Amino acid sequence: MNILSVASEVFPLIKTGGLADVAGALPIALAGHGMHMRTLMPGYPAVMQRLAKTEVVATFEDLLGEPARILAATHEGIDILVLDAPGFFDRQGGPYTDATGKDFVDNWRRFAALSLAGAEIARGLIPGWQPDIVHAHDWQAAMTAVYMRYTGLQHIPTVVTVHNLAFQGQFGPEIFTGLDLPPEAFSVEGLEYYGDVGFLKGGLRTAWSITTVSPTYAHEIMTPEYGMGLEGLINARAGELVGIVNGIDTAVWNPETDPHIARSFAAGSLKKRAMNRKALVERFNLIEDDGPIFCVVSRLTWQKGIDIIAEVADWIVERGGKLAVLGSGDQGLEGTLLAAASRHRGHVGIVIGYNEPLSHLMQAGSDAILIPSRFEPCGLTQLYGLRYGCIPIVARTGGLADTVIDANEAALSARVATGFQFTPINAEGLRQALRRVFKAWHEPKVWARIQNQGMKSDVSWENSAARYADLYSSLLSRV
Ligand code: ADP
Repeated sequence: MNILSVASEVFPLIKTGGLADVAGALPIALAGHGMHMRTLMPGYPAVMQRLAKTEVVATFEDLLGEPARILAATHEGIDILVLDAPGFFDRQGGPYTDATGKDFVDNWRRFAALSLAGAEIARGLIPGWQPDIVHAHDWQAAMTAVYMRYTGLQHIPTVVTVHNLAFQGQFGPEIFTGLDLPPEAFSVEGLEYYGDVGFLKGGLRTAWSITTVSPTYAHEIMTPEYGMGLEGLINARAGELVGIVNGIDTAVWNPETDPHIARSFAAGSLKKRAMNRKALVERFNLIEDDGPIFCVVSRLTWQKGIDIIAEVADWIVERGGKLAVLGSGDQGLEGTLLAAASRHRGHVGIVIGYNEPLSHLMQAGSDAILIPSRFEPCGLTQLYGLRYGCIPIVARTGGLADTVIDANEAALSARVATGFQFTPINAEGLRQALRRVFKAWHEPKVWARIQNQGMKSDVSWENSAARYADLYSSLLSRV
């Protein structure tokens, strides 16, 4: 089976969030199921520099106003198709924003072009390779399904995956004429979204199947609280909606071989974590004593509940806990955390920035990871935590609820607990959970048992890839 995946970021070529991890891991995991996935992505400068050998497999004289080519390459086992369109992608800044953090004004055209290229590949653009299924990720690629629906490719099954419904790609109606679509596409059955053009909306309307990255999030997005205006449409398509939890790359995230940590360890040798804790204490200028170290590795945004952490920081320190934060994002939140760090020198440490190697040491050296997200489609950092004996303390929402088993009395005595969940998602909710966490910390046997049980959780792509493989097969059987 041939599958075309379309994504705006793919790890390890370029990454701003969990989407990249999924887009990078899925092709490799699916190969074990006899499926050949090729991934179409934009040719950002960082991507073009990293690809060693490329071959031109198609050209467009005019792709929504720009000349473009499709280059084929292989990178760390991933079969990549790069949309090389310098007019759209050869620029300074991130994938979506300029150097000052502002969205590029032509993002609609850039990602419509990516999607249109995906649809053309589905039409047979690349000699000798025809996808049986097209799988598009998030709003940046969702238009692939729309182009396919309105240009005579309805017979090829399409899947649109929602990694985060908060990002929808909504633009003014005036852009419609620039999309090169027939007028009927600007309708409730297509792109029209409260009078605007909705890229994700169009994808969710036209795709054969919709997936999101956890079963709980799949339920949540049918409600007004989490549906972000799309709950009506999602409810109408509930029969086509599936929630599949993400896995993680267990080769990259392996405490037994991780090159970024001070000392490797395994479930049977948790005492060796002490060296990592020591390295972390030094990196964050913390005072070493016998309290638990809580880490945070996150975008610093309201979604991630970073304000809740700031609110609880003093309370944690009063009880003998330490806080080590790695992240970047909202400047107001960065400021609040920096203020907490200067109030509590030696007890609260913060590193502002994006630092992949340090994120590994955080998981290996901290005792627990705090994830108080207000909503969390899947979340990856709790999965890394499970694998590294860094106990996840999570808000009971989305994928966090699906992947962490709360250490309540029943789960503790059944020896299945892997972390702590809390609700309501506010400072008092988190403090309630932390009271239980401190209690467990003072019972080392209980603590070690929760760590060990977490390390036994299956966080690999195995199960999830099998679910995607089943979904593709069931769609093909409907053709
Ligand atoms: P989201 O995609 O919403 O940001 P996820 O938990 O799904 O959240 O994925 C976040 C990914 O980004 C994880 O791999 C996490 O380790 C990584 N990450 C987030 N912030 C940082 C940072 N400051 N430095 C290094 N890695 C980070």
